[in-house]
Amino acid sequence: GQCIMACPVGALYEKENIKEVWRAISNPEKFVVVQTAPAVRVALGEEFGMPIGTRVTGKMVAALRRVGFDKVFDTDFGADLTIMEEGTELISRLNKGENLPLMTSCCPGWVKFVEHYYPEMIDNLSTCKSPSEMEGALIKSYFAAKMGIDPKNIVTVSIMPCVGKKFEGQREELSHEGMQDVDIVLTTRELAQMIKEAGIDFKNLPDEQFDNPFGEGTGAAVIFGATGGVAEAALRTVYEVITGNDLDNVEITAVRGVTGIKEAVIDLNGRQVKAAIAHGLSNARRLLDMIKSGERQYDFIEVMACPGGCVTGGGQPIVDAKTREKMDVRVERAKAIYEEDRHLPIRKSHKNPDITRIYEEFLGQPNSHKSHELLHTHYVKRDRF
Ligand code: SF4
Repeated sequence: GQCIMACPVGALYEKENIKEVWRAISNPEKFVVVQTAPAVRVALGEEFGMPIGTRVTGKMVAALRRVGFDKVFDTDFGADLTIMEEGTELISRLNKGENLPLMTSCCPGWVKFVEHYYPEMIDNLSTCKSPSEMEGALIKSYFAAKMGIDPKNIVTVSIMPCVGKKFEGQREELSHEGMQDVDIVLTTRELAQMIKEAGIDFKNLPDEQFDNPFGEGTGAAVIFGATGGVAEAALRTVYEVITGNDLDNVEITAVRGVTGIKEAVIDLNGRQVKAAIAHGLSNARRLLDMIKSGERQYDFIEVMACPGGCVTGGGQPIVDAKTREKMDVRVERAKAIYEEDRHLPIRKSHKNPDITRIYEEFLGQPNSHKSHELLHTHYVKRDRF
């Protein structure tokens, strides 16, 4: 894995976290809710002998139900919500000319990197929590109230391609009324382990659908799993909101692929908005240094700590050296991500009906007081790892 954090202690955490989830599931007083990140569905199958780049979304949902989770939600819903909140933040910073470039905040490896090495740029980070943390906060507020369950009895589990998310889950900034938004983080590999422990025949499972109300995600959300995906998703929405025009071709190919630093310019009512995308922390450093020296100017930047983005995160199935010689795993898994996007009926976050509903019923507007209370966070300068 390429993850920069927690790797030496990853193995220790793993055993403990799987046990913790089994304990929660077997405790009748606990209502255990799981959500899965976009990149998990294009890699989990590899643990069961399926080829790299196989999409197993439906089987993954079926497996999670059989493992015993009370609700199976999609982090894609949280990703769509992130686009609404972060897109609105971008529009407001562009209008005020403040704290630009806006920097994405969904990757904990990147956020921690800024906190340690570029603390003077902390205000450039979006205040948005990551999609999984946003969704955790809504499970313990909106969903708990809807179901009449005491949020203290809800256990939120996130299945992530990432080892760094284990640290993120414990950040005290990511809690509300003394409860963590996400209680336990399992990696893709750990989920595979649980499915095996449960004796489930994964390959022969039927395809099943996520549960409501956080089961609907768009194509814009699923592409969060590959480098450039968050920028593409944000641009799809910001373009339509600012210009009022329909974006006919939603595929913004300039931001795709495994080039170290990518750039895109989008015309928003005559204003040229410049975006840059970096993946891997050495590219991130190059990008930030170019911004600091004034060599380059951007309005929006997306960074993912892992080369290729979450598809090759530190918690994903490990690919042996022989296979890696034959193919670029980042490219194969990303292909599956873009295929999933093309197959989804809705491909823009602001068109997700569940998103419209949660603003109408609960949050009001993006960046509202309630949104800030539940979906946004802050950062701290950190001296050492
Ligand atoms: Fe985790 Fe994805 Fe960031 Fe890697 S790129 S550290 S998998 S969030």
